Amino acid sequence: MTDRSPSEFWAQRQGLRSRPLAEAPAPDLRQERCSWTSPGSAQEPVAMKSNEFPTRTLYASRYCSDDRRRTDVFELLANSSGARRGRLHTGHGIVETPAFMPVGTAASVKAMDPGIVEELGARQIVCNTYHLYLRPGHRLIRELGGLHRFMGWSGSILTDSGGYQVFSHRSLLQLSDEGALFRSHIDGSRHLLTPELSVEIQRDLGSDIAMVLDECPPYPCSEEQAQSAVARTTDWAWRSKAAFEALAESGNESQFLFAIVQGSVYRNERLRSLEDLLKLDLPGYAIGGLSVGEPPELMLRTLEWLVPEMAVSKPRYLMGVGRPIDILESVARGVDLFDCVLPTRLGRNGAAYTLEGRLNIKNSRFKRDEAPLEPFCDCSTCQRFSRAYLRHLFMSKEILAAILLTTHNLFFYLRLMKRVRAAIEEGCFSRFYEDLVPRLAEPHGN
Ligand SMILES: [Zn+2]
Repeated sequence: MTDRSPSEFWAQRQGLRSRPLAEAPAPDLRQERCSWTSPGSAQEPVAMKSNEFPTRTLYASRYCSDDRRRTDVFELLANSSGARRGRLHTGHGIVETPAFMPVGTAASVKAMDPGIVEELGARQIVCNTYHLYLRPGHRLIRELGGLHRFMGWSGSILTDSGGYQVFSHRSLLQLSDEGALFRSHIDGSRHLLTPELSVEIQRDLGSDIAMVLDECPPYPCSEEQAQSAVARTTDWAWRSKAAFEALAESGNESQFLFAIVQGSVYRNERLRSLEDLLKLDLPGYAIGGLSVGEPPELMLRTLEWLVPEMAVSKPRYLMGVGRPIDILESVARGVDLFDCVLPTRLGRNGAAYTLEGRLNIKNSRFKRDEAPLEPFCDCSTCQRFSRAYLRHLFMSKEILAAILLTTHNLFFYLRLMKRVRAAIEEGCFSRFYEDLVPRLAEPHGN
C-alpha cells in the first residue's frame, strides 16, 4: 500500500478539486496496465499471455449444443480462467459484460439523477414491475411514452417479472397454477399476477429485457417444495413465451424475454429446471432463487453445478447478487450480469465500500478525518469531500449524504466491473481475482 498518510494523500488531491469531472480523461485500463496491479502497490505489472480466447469448448454443455459466439442479443468476446467477456446488444445500446445493473425500483435509482448514473458508467438498470404496476400503473407509463422517457434514462432497462416482490413483501395471499394472488402494500387492494399479465406490464413499460414470472421458493425449502416450484416455473415460462409472442406485433420488437432457472440448492432440481427451460430457446437465462438467505458457499457451489450446463452463446444473469465478493466469485464461475440494491441501500445507511473494507461513516473516528472515503477513488464524492464532512452530513440527516455516498458506492461497483472486464480481455483474470478476493472478503472493518 501507499507510504503516504491519508491526510498527505488528501492534501495532494486538493489540486484536483477544481477539475470538472467531465474533463477527466476516461481511464483506459488496457493502456494503464497490461495486467492488474493493486492500487497503490509498487508491484510492477508482469507480462501476461495474450487473450486466451477462443476456447469454445470451455463450457461443454450437456443440454445445449449451441456454442455460437453471437446471437441477436449477446456476443461472447473473450474468456479468461472461467470468466467471460461479452456484449449485450439491446434496443437502448450495448452493455459490456460482465456488468452490474443498479436497481431503480420505482423508476428511480434512489438518490441519483439518471444522468449521473450514466456518467458513473452504468449502461443498464433494473426496474421493478411489481412497484410500477401498483404505482403509477403500466398503462399510464405507456401513455406517457414508456419507461425510458418517463424516467429520463436513455440506457437499457431490464424489468423483473414482479414475482419476487410479491413473495418478498409477504403480501402473497394465494399461490396457484394460475398465478399469484397478492394484496397491494400501498392500499390493500387484491391483484392476481399471472405470467400473461407480467409480460403485458413489461411490454407496456417498454423495457429492453423482460423476465418471465417464476416461483421463487424461500431458503431453506424442502426438495419437494423446490421440485414443485421448478414445475410451476417451467409452466409459467411457456405461458410467458406464448403471451410475449402474441404481443410481438404491438411494437417494441427489440424487447427480449429471459427465462429464470429455479431449483433452490438442489442439484437435480437446478439441472432439471435448466433442461426444461432450454427447450424454450429464449435469448437469455437468469439464475433465480439464490442470495435468499443461503450461506454464500452454497450459492457458489450451486453455480458450479449449474453454470457449466448453460448455453455458451446466451447471457447468464444472477438475480439479486450481491456483495462485491459474490460478484467477483460469480464472474469467476462464468456469470455475466448482476443487480443488487446494496450499493444504493448501504449508501443511504451511511456505509461506503472501499478496497480496504467497508466503512461506516457514522463512526466517531471519522469526526476529524480529512481523507476522502477511499484513497485512489476518482469518483466525484472522493474528489471533493472529506470523511469528516460526509459524517457531518449523515449525522445531520442531510439528503446530500445519501447522494454522495450512493455516488461513491455505485462508482465502486461499476469500477470493479470495468476492471473485471479489462482483466478478462487481457487474459489476467486469475491474477486479478487472487488479489481482489482478500480485499473484498467480508466482514470488513468499520
Ligand atoms: Zn469515491
